[in-house]
Amino acid sequence: MRKFTIVGGGQSGLMVAIGLRKAGHQVRVVQNRTGAEIAAGRVLSSQCMFANAVQHERDLGIDYWSESCPPVQGINFIVPNPDGSGTKVIDWTGKLERNGYAVDQRVKMPRWLEEFQRLGGELVIADAGIAEIESYAAEDDLVIVASGKGEVGAMFARDAEKSAYDKPMRALALTYVTGMTPRQPHSAVEFNLIPGVGEYFVFPALTTTGPCEIMVFEGIPGGPMDCWGEVKTPAQHLEKSLWILKTFLPWEYERSKNCQLTDDNGILAGRFAPTIRHPVATLPSGRKVLGLGDAVCLNDPITGQGSNNASKAAAVYLRRILDQGNRPFDEAWMQGTFNEFWDYARWVVQWTNMLLLPPPPFILDIMGNACVLPKLAHRMANGFDDPRDFFPWFADPNAAASYLSELKAA
Ligand SMILES: Cc1cc2nc3c(=O)[nH]c(=O)nc-3n(C[C@H](O)[C@H](O)[C@H](O)COP(=O)(O)OP(=O)(O)OC[C@H]3O[C@@H](n4cnc5c(N)ncnc54)[C@H](O)[C@@H]3O)c2cc1C
Repeated sequence: MRKFTIVGGGQSGLMVAIGLRKAGHQVRVVQNRTGAEIAAGRVLSSQCMFANAVQHERDLGIDYWSESCPPVQGINFIVPNPDGSGTKVIDWTGKLERNGYAVDQRVKMPRWLEEFQRLGGELVIADAGIAEIESYAAEDDLVIVASGKGEVGAMFARDAEKSAYDKPMRALALTYVTGMTPRQPHSAVEFNLIPGVGEYFVFPALTTTGPCEIMVFEGIPGGPMDCWGEVKTPAQHLEKSLWILKTFLPWEYERSKNCQLTDDNGILAGRFAPTIRHPVATLPSGRKVLGLGDAVCLNDPITGQGSNNASKAAAVYLRRILDQGNRPFDEAWMQGTFNEFWDYARWVVQWTNMLLLPPPPFILDIMGNACVLPKLAHRMANGFDDPRDFFPWFADPNAAASYLSELKAA
């Protein structure tokens, strides 16, 4: 039995913690909010997770919601006509081979914290700083910091080579609602790209009060969708959300105009710079700690990959820890563990960062062609579950052209 501390009881930290506990190790999770506080607090994410990421939860026996959470069954990509006529210039749908699910983290994390404790894990409710992390590192075989966007993550130095941006690329907002007209003939992430303004996507989910829909707004900074500064109350937040839909996406307004907030905490507005960090930090004592999840690989939510990445990273880290047996978790092992995750995540990061810039003509060509090439729409929808499949054809104009002509010839 080996001893572990995980700072941060969120998507990635709790998956590793529960996996280690199930393998018989001694595990401490240090988490700055209790399950009850999380459940009663503000929404944190839209957390839509695709099948491969959900499978890792299932493998750990902690996917408690696939039966009760309304499924996400496809991706519907829409670009409105810039002439303001209220029509669409691009509109395609690809069905997902396996459903995705968005379980409110206010539902998921309290349940996982409870399960971790039921399995005999030690839960410490504290806001860990460097001094506390030093004391855990002195006692344990390995300390992992999975603190999400928490400030303590700054202990990992920013990796300028891997970080494409040094400022927020979108003004973000979330609105959790009930009363939306369901999408027909099947559910989907409706992903609307409004050139020069931003993106709006919406999909079914499970929240603390039952099924709901989550609206996600990604406004280009300084543009008309970067509009949350003046919003002071939950009612104003809903009103502003509906104003955006009415102004730019009339089809979305039509199905949303009678919506109500799920609860006063079903709203969020903020912004952050997508940042990749070096995965190993050195404490003042010289001891090393390993970063996991958003703490070291923070993406803009535009492609909905953060929780997916967190789950996939947790699966890699867990396997590497168990494979290590009684050998030390030294710096080379830590770096190797992150590198294995990065072999996957670098494609997710590249694809996500591409979508934060105005689409070049060859991407518009791909997106337009997907309206008439169902195979292409299917591939792009399912790429959300494994974005490696977007390469090289989504990144390189020549590869795109030859892939498109291959599809057209078939
Ligand atoms: C607006 C928005 C929409 C999103 N939509 C999606 C989506 O649709 N799909 C998707 O896959 N991802 C989405 N994400 C991203 C996703 O929520 C995160 O990537 C994911 O939760 C990261 O998991 P994590 O384990 O790294 O961190 P988290 O889940 O954030 O967990 C970190 C935990 O650490 C705790 N903590 C922080 N600091 C300390 C400390 N010093 N001591 C103790 N505890 C600490 C925090 O309270 C938290 O509980 C979205 C994010 C945002 C902001």
